[in-house]
Amino acid sequence: MKQFFEYLRQVILISKGMWVTFKHLFKKPVTIQYPKEKVPMYPRYRGLHFLERYEDGSERCVCCGLCAAACPVDCIYMEPAENERGERYAKVYEINELRCIFCGFCEEACPEEAIFLGKEYEFSDYTRDKFIYTKEDLLVKWPREKPSSINFLRKERRPPNMTVLPPGSKHSVESH
Ligand code: SF4
Ligand code: SF4
Repeated sequence: MKQFFEYLRQVILISKGMWVTFKHLFKKPVTIQYPKEKVPMYPRYRGLHFLERYEDGSERCVCCGLCAAACPVDCIYMEPAENERGERYAKVYEINELRCIFCGFCEEACPEEAIFLGKEYEFSDYTRDKFIYTKEDLLVKWPREKPSSINFLRKERRPPNMTVLPPGSKHSVESH
């Protein structure tokens, strides 16, 4: 008799489990078939950096160093140079994405609206040196493949007689 009740208990428990499974057969699956399907990132998500350009294709970054100064983990390195029009630009611009904590301070500090953190999160790799992103890796492709996702406040390059002041100054641009 005891064996019979034990058997009955097992049948009830299995039936309960099967019922839970059966109920889900007709529901819409919640599983995402990654990497074929991707969920959109939240608007404030901060992923891989990118360097922006003006609409004529010139680089927005003037190598002022404010992003590197704001970076709490010291993972931005740059070397400045001047182009043939006397405009300053970054000859070298590198970010060590392994050190980066994706805080977004570099984006906040940039007076030129040059550096942004995008939505890209698929940049895993096998070797550490692949995580040193150079300017060529970071600059948006030109001509653009799609319109910029950024709504720029300043659309024109600063005239050469203007000085960039640190963010937080009363005016971030001052004419000589
Ligand atoms: S997101 Fe933060 S940690 Fe990463 S490069 Fe920018 S300032 Fe540095
Ligand atoms: S703060 Fe902006 S303009 Fe200055 S070096 Fe960084 S990315 Fe370039």
